[in-house]
Amino acid sequence: MSIMVPSKTPALITPGQQALDSALHQLHQAAEHLGLDDGLRTVLATPRRSLTVSVPVRREDGRLDVVQGFRVQHNVSRGPAKGGIRFHPGTDIHEVTALAMWMTWKCALVGIPYGGAKGGVAVDPATLTVVEQERLTRRYVNEILPLIGPEKDIPAPDVGTDEQTMAWIMDTYSVSAGYSVPGVVTGKPMTLGGSLGRAGATSRGVQIATLAALGRSPEGVSVAVQGFGKVGALAAQYLADAGCKVVAVSDVGGAVYASGGLDVSRLRAFAAEHGTVRGYPHADELPLDDLLELDVDVLVPAALEGAITEANAPRVRARLIVEGANGPLTPEADEIVNANGATVVPDILANAGGVIVSYLEWVQNMQAYSWSSGEVELKLRDLMENAFAEVRSLAGARGLTLRQAAHVIGVGRVAEAHQMRGLYP
Ligand code: GLU
Repeated sequence: MSIMVPSKTPALITPGQQALDSALHQLHQAAEHLGLDDGLRTVLATPRRSLTVSVPVRREDGRLDVVQGFRVQHNVSRGPAKGGIRFHPGTDIHEVTALAMWMTWKCALVGIPYGGAKGGVAVDPATLTVVEQERLTRRYVNEILPLIGPEKDIPAPDVGTDEQTMAWIMDTYSVSAGYSVPGVVTGKPMTLGGSLGRAGATSRGVQIATLAALGRSPEGVSVAVQGFGKVGALAAQYLADAGCKVVAVSDVGGAVYASGGLDVSRLRAFAAEHGTVRGYPHADELPLDDLLELDVDVLVPAALEGAITEANAPRVRARLIVEGANGPLTPEADEIVNANGATVVPDILANAGGVIVSYLEWVQNMQAYSWSSGEVELKLRDLMENAFAEVRSLAGARGLTLRQAAHVIGVGRVAEAHQMRGLYP
């Protein structure tokens, strides 16, 4: 048991506050470049709606726990709010606000007609039984019910939530409406109106963005992936399928390394069975933090925000960093790796595949129709490649990093929507 010693240093900012600082820094840089006035900047820096709720959960042993939940709609000027729901013990209102803001720019950047939102519940789902997870999800959804709806705000999976969580959300909303409303949430199981290709969509997008950024044959390109969850595991798989040599991956349990390349399908099967990549017998063990500092061509941080900060950024050696997670590099880290000559494909571009196929799922739901996996993949590829080309061309024309260019495009489109709509009253 550890004993809490009062710290002499002033209270540190939380990871959530750090994420919000990063998001605001990126917004102000883009606003400066676009010459937006102070009023519009303040509108874009401020969430449109922000709700904090208390969620009581009856545990199976009879105890009653109360956890905090959040839903933030950052912006709805281009369409309904859109964004995932995260179950993570460290989440707070600042983190959810930052993630909602990134959703706004992401949707605008890839040209889908949504604003941005995010939800979070400050809980570790691994400490709950399935019954408790269901109770928690349904009660949280009940608390945020006035905000969500297929034309208002459409949740989706994020860290700690999955298809099953989305099914409970769809059911809770539908029971309250009195009829089935599949379009209220995306990332659903196929039987409830999910889309082919949604489960692997973020990872497929990471693969498309990586190949576009490489601009050369992926054959033998070395890759390290931080995070072996919903995004990282399939990103590693798709990159290996394309010919890359995935030499290292990590999850919260540990990291594994094989200089000749990992057999990713075998590793995925091992991780599915053991709950972690740690102990995989066909690779060497690697200290967790070393993964980010490997001498590889491509690094894919696909875990949480703030993985690379000013503390470890000087030791990052990858030439290309593709942000599978949202906000894995702090602005200080971003500056350091750029100064060291690395190219960063920013989160709002690199991981947009998820929300793109969420949009395609929602369109299918609204039309009560479904498309083949080929059609979904073609549309995903088209939207990702167009967005990538736009970002690269603006970055080249104006001497910006890919992140700056992506924000200038995303923020610029939202600002334009505000200007065209005007202010009411
Ligand atoms: N949570 C994912 C993201 O951060 C997907 C959001 C969605 O599909 O709405 O982009």
